[in-house]
Amino acid sequence: MPTPEIWFLTGSQHLYGPETLRQVAANSTEIAASLGVTFKPVLTDSDAIRAICLDANADPNCAGVILWMHTFSPAKMWIGGLTQLKKPVLHLHTQFNRDLPWSSIDMDFMNLNQAAHGDREAGHLHVRLGLARAIAVGHWSNPRVRDRIERWARVAYGWQALQATKICRFGDNMRQVSVTEGDKVSAEMKFGFSVNGFGLGDLVAVMNDVSESEVSSLIQEYDELYDIADELRNDRRSSLEDAARQEIAIRRFLEAGGFTGFTTTFEDLHGLNQLPGLACQRLMADGYGFGAEGDWKTAALLRFMKVVANGEGTSFMEDYTYHLDPDRPLVLGAHMLEICPSIANNRPRMEIHPLGIGGKADPVRLVFDAPPGPAINASLIDLGHRFRLIVSEVDAVDVPAMPKLPVARAVWKVKPDFESGIAGWIRAGGAHHTVFSYGVTAADLRDFAEIAGIECVVIGEGTRYDDLVNELRWNEVAFRA
Ligand code: MN
Repeated sequence: MPTPEIWFLTGSQHLYGPETLRQVAANSTEIAASLGVTFKPVLTDSDAIRAICLDANADPNCAGVILWMHTFSPAKMWIGGLTQLKKPVLHLHTQFNRDLPWSSIDMDFMNLNQAAHGDREAGHLHVRLGLARAIAVGHWSNPRVRDRIERWARVAYGWQALQATKICRFGDNMRQVSVTEGDKVSAEMKFGFSVNGFGLGDLVAVMNDVSESEVSSLIQEYDELYDIADELRNDRRSSLEDAARQEIAIRRFLEAGGFTGFTTTFEDLHGLNQLPGLACQRLMADGYGFGAEGDWKTAALLRFMKVVANGEGTSFMEDYTYHLDPDRPLVLGAHMLEICPSIANNRPRMEIHPLGIGGKADPVRLVFDAPPGPAINASLIDLGHRFRLIVSEVDAVDVPAMPKLPVARAVWKVKPDFESGIAGWIRAGGAHHTVFSYGVTAADLRDFAEIAGIECVVIGEGTRYDDLVNELRWNEVAFRA
């Protein structure tokens, strides 16, 4: 994935004369270089501001813009530009000098370093415009400020990727399921990603063209990466070959169509011998979005979060079963097969076991545990007239070995506590399918929701159930427009 640019736009005006503007440009250049973003000439009038905003829109490599008012920049000059701007915005409220030069401070210093009021003028206009934006406050050398900017930039990259995301659905939805349904037209208008369906026969045709040598070289790759069960090397080798053929075919189909995410469903497997499990796991590990049972919203959210996480463990997930010990209640997350090995804590074992549903041959899968540590679950739901993003902060934990469980899994503790966290999730309408991630935070998803203009409900440390119920009630009104 190419790293896009973030543009650094500095606001000023002509009032201060060329000497001051030269200094403003020099300071901005230094800050932009230090932040690893792209410096653009200092903006001093409405025509230039409008032109740079239109340039940002037109440049496919520009993922977002940072705005900073080094001096006072009368904000009416920004109306023409900001009303046109389509890229994510971060308002950086910083100052070139960290410390006041107590013994030498004079009016020149004050006039040069006046973001303290310049950015308030900007912020006021942002409110008038209803501008979606993140705000970072503090000196640009401060690690907290830099981290805030870096995290936002990753979300902006993810947003940019989402605009070009195409999700391929093999078959339709699992029959009768509510939460995986939704309005694909609204989703494309809101988030940019498109979702289209294909018959399984189209995939089977690609599968039939896969050569034996391609299959055996992929199995060699499996051998390097995983501990393969003996039976898959011997009497059940043909199941492994089938699984490898599925992976090659799905990958080829997705590449040919420019897809970066896909769904499958066990209720539509015409022409496939087994439910694709291994293929889904391995394609997720390569950055593809995936949703089981036709869940295209989770597939798109996973693709987005893969970009934001930049390779850190992120997987399709399902809340499966509970450990209801009152002293330490836990959730076991897993799926029939399809958990991404990017969250594996150990070298995955490749195994084959029966699958009770779908009426097909036993599927091959990777089995592993997920590591302990802070993580999130995220669910994007369609409420009919709008979308809601629900985020649950959790702590993944180590648990005793589960030698008879034939699927990859993660076990976690819900915040703020089991009762409030789970009640809150159910009250908000969160799905059983989620994206589980160690690399994306609730704060990142708040930034995403701000850019997309959707509701984001975070359930974490400090959440009180009664307050959450009120938040949901009030948000019904806030997001009605
Ligand atoms: Mn499921």
